[in-house]
Amino acid sequence: MEQTHVPHVLFLPFPAQGHIKPMLNLAELLSHEGFQVTFVNSDHNHDRLLHNIDISSFYNRFPKFQFRSIPDGLTPDHPRFGLYFIDLFCSTRAVSKPAFRELLISLKEEKGPFQLPSCIIADGIMCFAIDVAEEFEIPTITFRTFSAHCVWTYFHLSKLIEEGEVPFPDENLEKPISCIPGLENVLRRRDLPGICRFEKADDPVLQFFVKETSACTRASGLILNTFNEIEAPMITRLGSFFNKIYPIGPLHALKSRINDNSSSSTSSNGNLWKEDKKCLKWLDSQPSKSVLYVSFGSLIELTREQILEFWHGLINCGKSFLWVLRSDLIVGDASFGHLLMKLERETKERGLIVSWAPQEHVLLHPAIGGFLTHSGWNSTLESIVAGVPMICWPKVADQQVNSRCVSDVWKIGFDMKDICDRSMVEKLVRELMDNRRDQFMASSDKLSRLACDSIKEGGSSCINLEKLIQDIKSMSS
Ligand code: UDP
Repeated sequence: MEQTHVPHVLFLPFPAQGHIKPMLNLAELLSHEGFQVTFVNSDHNHDRLLHNIDISSFYNRFPKFQFRSIPDGLTPDHPRFGLYFIDLFCSTRAVSKPAFRELLISLKEEKGPFQLPSCIIADGIMCFAIDVAEEFEIPTITFRTFSAHCVWTYFHLSKLIEEGEVPFPDENLEKPISCIPGLENVLRRRDLPGICRFEKADDPVLQFFVKETSACTRASGLILNTFNEIEAPMITRLGSFFNKIYPIGPLHALKSRINDNSSSSTSSNGNLWKEDKKCLKWLDSQPSKSVLYVSFGSLIELTREQILEFWHGLINCGKSFLWVLRSDLIVGDASFGHLLMKLERETKERGLIVSWAPQEHVLLHPAIGGFLTHSGWNSTLESIVAGVPMICWPKVADQQVNSRCVSDVWKIGFDMKDICDRSMVEKLVRELMDNRRDQFMASSDKLSRLACDSIKEGGSSCINLEKLIQDIKSMSS
């Protein structure tokens, strides 16, 4: 009789919130399908993540799941973001790579169910995993956590450098970028990914992404947290680099479908910070679509001046707001705590400040009428699913590309990039939530319906997930 193998998939995300969350969502979906799953975090994030999960309930729900961890090579007190991100890029290659190899060796020697995986799903910027996987003859599928528009742009970094478009001086930011096929009428200089703003073409961070982008094409397929109906032209173009592409997003919404049927045991929320749930109660007391939600994600830093410009703009616009101000939003400013307390005191009448919100739930709350966001791809997708129009204030990475798509491709909000000014904040909030509210609500509702349809039975993302599942099964037989 032919023996049937339970596929064992190992996930390796880059150690940052916006990468862990979508990959963990997929890991839980595959575990729900009966796969053995090993999810590998950095030691630093492992502790933070498990702190926010009811682990016995989680393992009850996903008995074939295990978390493992490897070092990221940085000391526990290293900030790991903002200007310090480069350290993480270097140390993951230098320290995590040999540690990852050791982990695979230990799995090879395992006697239980978690033996050597039949497939590795590695972050598209952790391509050392492909080198190591090849040593063990394990196929790798790469997971890029950015939008397809942005991934396609990254595939043109070398060309942008060759043609002298990148790096660019801090002038003529409106200049159209004409050398990226399909995006000729979309991107201007200022819309290129944040890394294009470095001063030199040989900047180590820029070069890191050039190399990782080229290396990830050695994987046997590409997973994207997006859906065909929103990014089909870019997904199709990416087909010139990969044999197989799996657009299976929005993954948070796809995963919430398996949650609906769950009983007492729960899945994770993938958060590294503890959610402050009291804001949901506060939202319950607010009128429909009256509150602006404000969050700048997990990575970017703001200056004290920028925080004050936003705060004055929010107060002057006359709308209620819920604002996430992470305690580490200003790095190395010992007096930030005092500023925070002052803002909290003076905001009381009009808004609520929290340090980390249950964002997916917040965006789905009927009281939310707009989102002032940094345009991280997860936040953008969560807003699209919830049908909430956006004001975008991007700063780094894929955010500049995403915000351009929000305003000019999908037309579901404003792009406020490169401007941080209280009068602009005030003006755009009024436009979004009052003057042009019906127009933005209509386009956001339409896109939300497409997103939700894609994850229904027979929807494009659902079909692509099934293809991924079948392809992984065929790797395991
Ligand atoms: N997030 C959250 N609560 C917050 C702020 C952010 O749960 O208060 C989540 C958000 O839902 C998203 C992720 O953190 O899933 C941030 O990812 P994104 O790609 O938007 O931005 P990044 O943090 O990577 O810049």
